[in-house]
Amino acid sequence: MSQKPLTVVISQAQGRNPVKRALEDQLASELLNDQGLTVTLIPHLYDLSQNHSAAQFLREVQGDLIVLGWLYERGIRWTLDRDGVHGHVGETELRAEDSEPPEDVDERAGGIGIPETPDRTIWCLDLRISEDAQDYLEEIRRIRDSLNPLSNPVDELMSWINGSPSAEQLQRYLHPDQMLEARRASDGGTATQEQRAQLPEDTGRRWYPVIDYSRCTNCMECIDFCLFGVYGVDSLDRILVEQQDSCKKGCPACSRVCPADAIIFPQHKEAAIAGADGEVGGLRIDLTKLFGGGDDEDALEKAVRERDQELILDGREAVGMSVGIRRRHHDEMEDLLSNLDELDF
Ligand code: SF4
Ligand code: SF4
Repeated sequence: MSQKPLTVVISQAQGRNPVKRALEDQLASELLNDQGLTVTLIPHLYDLSQNHSAAQFLREVQGDLIVLGWLYERGIRWTLDRDGVHGHVGETELRAEDSEPPEDVDERAGGIGIPETPDRTIWCLDLRISEDAQDYLEEIRRIRDSLNPLSNPVDELMSWINGSPSAEQLQRYLHPDQMLEARRASDGGTATQEQRAQLPEDTGRRWYPVIDYSRCTNCMECIDFCLFGVYGVDSLDRILVEQQDSCKKGCPACSRVCPADAIIFPQHKEAAIAGADGEVGGLRIDLTKLFGGGDDEDALEKAVRERDQELILDGREAVGMSVGIRRRHHDEMEDLLSNLDELDF
């Protein structure tokens, strides 16, 4: 009986953190000989250019997919989408203890969604949830078994005896851990030219926004706000990140002005901006500040300040609130103040 193919991709951490490398290696080594799976290591997903061979590989994967990476689940999912890798959301049972309940991303109201979702499922697992490889292995095997409830080792053995191993079986047995060995040698600085040739091309660190289309309403506030030409629209007039490398490193300003909390910077230190479930703050008015109870800037002020800093670094003039801030936000503030007046504050 043929199994549904399931591909497991491990997106490696940036840098050479030995603890992270050990977890990646252990997962890859143990999964290499698991039946019903193919496993591949790629460089950090977020750093891939769209024509990187690993991005091309991801686009070519047929069937269901599990992607493990050092990012929040939403960060992985929408970075994959950005690279043209689409699928339905796979529910994972492996979640951080303090995480908010998962949203039904496919059915969340309000977002414009993705035009055509292929009939396959993608599970995204955050490698920061646990340091124990067994937690990931159990979850991956649970997913595999849920896809192939009748699979058992005898089926696989029979397909070999009958001389008809699947392409997935061949790949698993013919390419054991060549890539792992090459990567270890490269990390240790002892890689031969031949070993290096087995590794994907290098990736530099990158910084750009990723859009969560399950939330994005196509309001175009981000394109108005960003003065660096990062955003554009596609042939269906949907917002997209057109010039990702024009984004200013470390700047998350537009994520603060998006009214739908749909803009993710997967590497940002603030969890909500990096893709943790929850709100970024957007343009919701900070009442503590309004009442003089807090010293922090509100989200809009922060965004404007961050944008001004980048304009000045670019040798341009700061524009403050005068450009790209929708009238709606001023109206919201005025409405709130007049409501407070009515309440006799
Ligand atoms: S501001 Fe947010 S909701 Fe509006 S188009 Fe941009 S990403 Fe989408
Ligand atoms: S973070 Fe700044 S530079 Fe980057 S897209 Fe947003 S507004 Fe533009």
